[in-house]
Amino acid sequence: MELRVLGCSGGEADGERLTGLLVNGCVAIDAGSITPALTVTEQVRIRHVFISHSHLDHICTLPFFTKNIFGHTQEPVEIHALPETLDVLRRHLFNDELWPDFSVIPSPNDPTIRYTEIEPEHTYEVCGLRLTPIRVNHLVPCVGYRVEDDRDAFIFTSDTAETDRIWEVANATPNLRLVIAEASFPDEQAPLAEASKHLTPASLGAELKKLHRDVPVRIYHLTPGDRPSMLPQLAALGDPRLRLLAQDERLVW
Ligand SMILES: [Zn+2]
Ligand SMILES: [Zn+2]
Repeated sequence: MELRVLGCSGGEADGERLTGLLVNGCVAIDAGSITPALTVTEQVRIRHVFISHSHLDHICTLPFFTKNIFGHTQEPVEIHALPETLDVLRRHLFNDELWPDFSVIPSPNDPTIRYTEIEPEHTYEVCGLRLTPIRVNHLVPCVGYRVEDDRDAFIFTSDTAETDRIWEVANATPNLRLVIAEASFPDEQAPLAEASKHLTPASLGAELKKLHRDVPVRIYHLTPGDRPSMLPQLAALGDPRLRLLAQDERLVW
């Protein structure tokens, strides 16, 4: 399996890209950085986009992606998301006001994108991968994903505050190689983290006590301006599994 980090919402401050992963060149998970990170040829190879939730940092390049692939694909690209998330995309993004409705362009029978509803805990097989959405605890309906092939697996929690199910799933995943988890605000902003359903380094530390696996845990979603205070707080957790996720990184198993 090849995992490419297109963006991780919390990179090196300036020039930061927003959240997006690419698996085997074919499946994108979240769409915060598809167009700045990939050539058009690479974008055209994406057949499926699995969205975790409707926040802009996870979907904002979908309009430019659809424009770039328009006319270059035989089959529609499938946009997989919770029904609530698809509803937001239809009403607020591809609504013929902010952006054209590419689910009926060039024609309803032969569109550029197709919306596909997902259900948490169901497994979807695409491009030789199995993706299982797991509900997490965020301000809007949100899922993390377990991604597997026949040999390896990783987990992306997406944005979440305190949660249990995704850690149970991680513990029960046989060939788990990696967990990508969030930390968004420094410890001194715990009330803000709580109100916006995100984690601080301290609350991430509490979450990681639920992960009983000796696998690398890569952190994403640091607020760029708060990196200087968050980095020592993450280090102070003393968890040897922890490292930051990096933009443009490729992980191959
Ligand atoms: Zn969010
Ligand atoms: Zn986010």
